[in-house]
Parts: sequence; C-alpha cells; structure tokens
Amino acid sequence: MKDVITIDGPSGAGKGTVSRLLAGKLGYKYLDTGALYRAVAWKARAEGVGPDNEEGLKKMMDNINISFNGDRIYVDGTDVTSGIRTKEIGEMSSRFSAEPVVRSGLFSIQRELCIQGKAVIEGRDTGTTIFPESENKFYLDAGLEERARRRHEELKDKDPAIRLETTLEDIKKRDARDSSRETSPLKKTEDMVYIDSTSLSVDEVVEKIMSYLRL
Ligand code: C5P
Repeated sequence: MKDVITIDGPSGAGKGTVSRLLAGKLGYKYLDTGALYRAVAWKARAEGVGPDNEEGLKKMMDNINISFNGDRIYVDGTDVTSGIRTKEIGEMSSRFSAEPVVRSGLFSIQRELCIQGKAVIEGRDTGTTIFPESENKFYLDAGLEERARRRHEELKDKDPAIRLETTLEDIKKRDARDSSRETSPLKKTEDMVYIDSTSLSVDEVVEKIMSYLRL
C-alpha cells in the first residue's frame, strides 16, 4: 500500500512541520494524530474523566465527535485548535494515550480519515499499528536538546515564563511513557526509513523523504 505515508517519532522531532509541507507538495491530505489524543485529553478534562476511569473513558470514546476543517480541529462542535496546544494538555494526552480504550477508539477514526485518497499521517504508531501495510514508512528523530528547543519555541508564545529545562524534562518523561506503554508503543521498525533531523532544515528533511518514496 503506497497511498498512505506514515511518519513516526518522538516529541519535537519535527513530524508536524515536515508532514504538513510534504503533504502540500504531494497534494495529499495531512493527519496529525497527536491532535486526536490531545482532543481526547481536552474532552476528558472538560468532563472530569480521569485516565483510570475505564468505564467513563469508554463512554466518552463512544460519544466523542472529532472533526477537522482545514487547519482547525473541533471536539463535539467546539473549536479546540488553540486549546489543545498547551503543556498541560500535552502531558495529559500522553497519559490518556496509554489507555487501550482510547487507542482503539481512535483507531478507526484514523483509518477512515486517511483511507479515502492519499495521505501523510504522523504520530507514534502510524506505521506500526494504524497503517502497518504502508510501503512508505519513516521514523523521524532528533537529539533530545534540539527537540526540547523546538518544543520550547512553540510553547513560549502561549506561556512566556516556561523554562527550557522544564520543557526538556517534560519531553523526556513523555518519550519514556510513549515508548514503554504496552499498547502500541513508539517504536522504530526494520521497514521504516530512519531520518535524524538534528542538523537538517525542514526542506532538507522533506527532500530526503521524497527521495525514498515509492509512489
Ligand atoms: O505529537 P503530540 O505531542 O501532539 O502528541 C501528544 C501525545 O499523544 C503524545 O505524547 C503521545 O502520548 C500521544 N500520541 C500517541 N500516538 C500517536 C500520536 C500521539 O500515543 N499516534
């Protein structure tokens, strides 16, 4: 299967920027799966459902309606595009994403959003679990300090007081949780092309990916 390009990797590796640009160049759809996990965390917070409340989570996942309109994302009709990009929601989404009921709830949403037509999908398990049949799988990585610096640049706009050291610790914690969970952990597999973006520009990463594509 060649029509869905999967890009996995840890926080701050540049997956979002690269995937959006790549999708634009190819005329493909772009799906940021992290936004779905953030949307779940946003709704759980709004409804006061904790990650250990399996029954509450199941009910919530059965009823959640996540939709997109261009770059905007909506949960049950509310625009959460900006609300999900906070440090708190990032942390929460990592905890909720370890819950099998959340992952299975988002599985079919991800398949459905990509399966009609061609798409670039990025996240932590897009090549291992969501589209294991893809023939275009990539693992995008970068050094920890560089990833923290990039994430810090994003968060600074919202929270000018946030410290780089805090962001680095936060990323370390999230990476450890994302890589060690039982259900669909972040993992690089043999069939993924590994790209280290530490000292590459966004354009260089996109070029590299394009050079490996089997279309
Ligand atoms: O990429 P982003 O930081 O927006 O993702 C938020 C969280 O969602 C990640 O820390 C991870 O725990 C979770 N996630 C996941 N599987 C994906 C995408 C994101 O578990 N495919």
